[in-house]
Amino acid sequence: MSGINDMTVEELTMPIATAELQRFLSDLLGNSGVIDDPAEFARYTTDWAGHKHGDPWMVARPRTPEQVAEIVAFCHRHQVPMVAQGGHSGLVGGAQPDSEHRELVISLERLNRIRHLDPINFSISVDSGCILQTVKDAAEEADCYFPLALGAQGSCQIGGNVSTNAGGLNVLRYGMMRQLVLGLEVVLPDGRIYNGMKALHKNNAGYDLKQLFIGAEGTLGIVTGAVLKLSPRPQVSRSALLACPDIDSVLRLYALARRSCCDLLTAFELVPRTCLELAMEASPDLRDPLEAPSPVYVLMEAAASGPVDLDAMIENLFERGFEAGVLTDGVLASSDTQARNLWHIREAMLEGQRNRGEHLRTDVSLPISSLTAFHQRASDEIQALCPQAMIIAYGHIGDGNLHFNILPPPGLEAEERAALLHELEEHLFEIVGDFDGSISAEHGIGRFKQTAFLETLSEPEYDIMRGLKRLLDPRYLMSPGRILPRPIE
Ligand SMILES: Cc1cc2nc3c(=O)[nH]c(=O)nc-3n(C[C@H](O)[C@H](O)[C@H](O)COP(=O)(O)OP(=O)(O)OC[C@H]3O[C@@H](n4cnc5c(N)ncnc54)[C@H](O)[C@@H]3O)c2cc1C
Repeated sequence: MSGINDMTVEELTMPIATAELQRFLSDLLGNSGVIDDPAEFARYTTDWAGHKHGDPWMVARPRTPEQVAEIVAFCHRHQVPMVAQGGHSGLVGGAQPDSEHRELVISLERLNRIRHLDPINFSISVDSGCILQTVKDAAEEADCYFPLALGAQGSCQIGGNVSTNAGGLNVLRYGMMRQLVLGLEVVLPDGRIYNGMKALHKNNAGYDLKQLFIGAEGTLGIVTGAVLKLSPRPQVSRSALLACPDIDSVLRLYALARRSCCDLLTAFELVPRTCLELAMEASPDLRDPLEAPSPVYVLMEAAASGPVDLDAMIENLFERGFEAGVLTDGVLASSDTQARNLWHIREAMLEGQRNRGEHLRTDVSLPISSLTAFHQRASDEIQALCPQAMIIAYGHIGDGNLHFNILPPPGLEAEERAALLHELEEHLFEIVGDFDGSISAEHGIGRFKQTAFLETLSEPEYDIMRGLKRLLDPRYLMSPGRILPRPIE
C-alpha cells in the first residue's frame, strides 16, 4: 500500500479515465467487487426514505481494510472523489452520490466480520460493515449486551453508526456512540491506516484521535473497524405506556422516573396522540392500548442485570405520578409479548409517517427543561405560518431530543411543497437557536442541513473544523460537500 509520502507530484495530480478506474478496481476486488452497470446502481443511490440524488461513477465493494486503503490511496493519487456508504439510513444526503460531481461509492457491505468478543473485558471488535443487529445478536450469545437500539438496526452498519454518532432509545442509560466506542480503525484520506483498535476502557495518552472520526460523517476518513464497549445482558426488563395531560406533565414525570427507578431507566419516549393514530393506521392489528385517548403518552422501559423488583418500582412511579397530577392512566406490560406490542407502536408510527409522503423531518435537541416552552412556541408559530400543516413532535425526552416533524397539507405540487417545507424548517431552526439548542441530535448534517448548520457556527468553530478537514483531506476528496462546503472551484 502506498501513502501520500510515497507519491510523486505528477502522480498526485493525475486524473483518470473510467476504464482505468474499472480495471484497477476489478484487479483488486474481482468482478463481484465492482459495480459499473447503471442498471445495478439503484441499491446504492436511494436512502431509507426513498431520496435519490445522482448516480455513482462506480461502486467498489471491498472485503478488507487493506483493500479499502488501496482504493483510497489510488483515489487520492488520481483525484477521485469518494463517499463511504453504510446502510442508507442517515437521511441527510450524506451517503448518496452527488448528482453534479462524479463520485466513487465505497460500500462497506462486504466488510462484515465479527473479529473478536471478549466477555471479561466487555468488548467486541468488529468490521465496520457489520449490521448493528448482527453485533447485538453476537453480544447476546455471549451473555453480553450492546445497547445501541434504533429503528434502523436491521439495516444500518456500525461504520454508519460511528460516523453519525448514533444514539437511539437507550442513550439515557448507556450514552451515544461516542461513549460506546473504545477503539477505531480508519483509512485516512491519503490511504494510510490509522490503527486505534485498542480495547481499553481508560486511555489518557495524548489526544483522543478516535473521537475526531466519530460523527464526522465520512469527511475525515473511512471507518473500517471498531472496538465497542459491551454491558452485562439485562436479565429483567419492564415496559409501560403512560398517559399524560400535556408535555409539561411528561417532563415532570420524567424527573420523577429518574429518581424512582434507581438509575435503571433505559428509555423514556414521548409519543403524542397523533403518532399513536399514525401507528394504528400503518399497522391495523394495533389496538388503542388505553380506554380513553390522551393528548400525549410516554413509552418507558427499565432494565436490570440482576434480581430487582422492577414491577414494584414502576408501580411506585405510577402512584407518585397520579398523586402529582402528571399521570392520568397507564399500563405496565405483564409479558414480553405485551412489551413488544407496546414498542411496536414506536416502529409503526415511523412507518405511518413514511406512508404520508414527503415531509419535514428534524432531529433537534434542547435542554430538557426548555422542551415545554420550545414545543409551545414552535407549534404556535408553525401553525400560524401554515394552519393546514400537521405537526408530529415525538422523541427521546431523556436526551432532550425531539423529532419536530411537519406534514404539509395534501395536494401541493412538488415545488410548492419543497418551498413550504424549506420555509418552515428555516423558521423552526431559528426558534431552536433562540433556545440554544442544536439543529441535529441524530442524523447529522450531510448535505441537506449544511446551509442551516453553517449559520449556527461561530468563526472559531468554523476555522477549527475547516482546519481539521484541510489537515486530513487537503484535496477534499472524502465526502466532498458534506458538513462543510466544497472549496470554491
Ligand atoms: C427508521 C430510522 C430510525 C432512526 N433512529 C435513530 C435514532 O433513534 N437515533 C439516531 O441517532 N439515529 C437514528 N437514525 C439515523 C441514524 O443516523 C442511522 O440509522 C445510522 O446511524 C446510519 O447508519 P448507516 O449505516 O445507515 O449509514 P449511512 O446512511 O449509509 O451513512 C450515514 C453517513 O455515514 C457515512 N458513513 C457510513 N459508513 C461509513 C464508514 N464506514 N466510514 C465513514 N463514513 C461512513 C456516510 O458517508 C454518511 O455520511 C434512524 C434512521 C432511521 C431510518
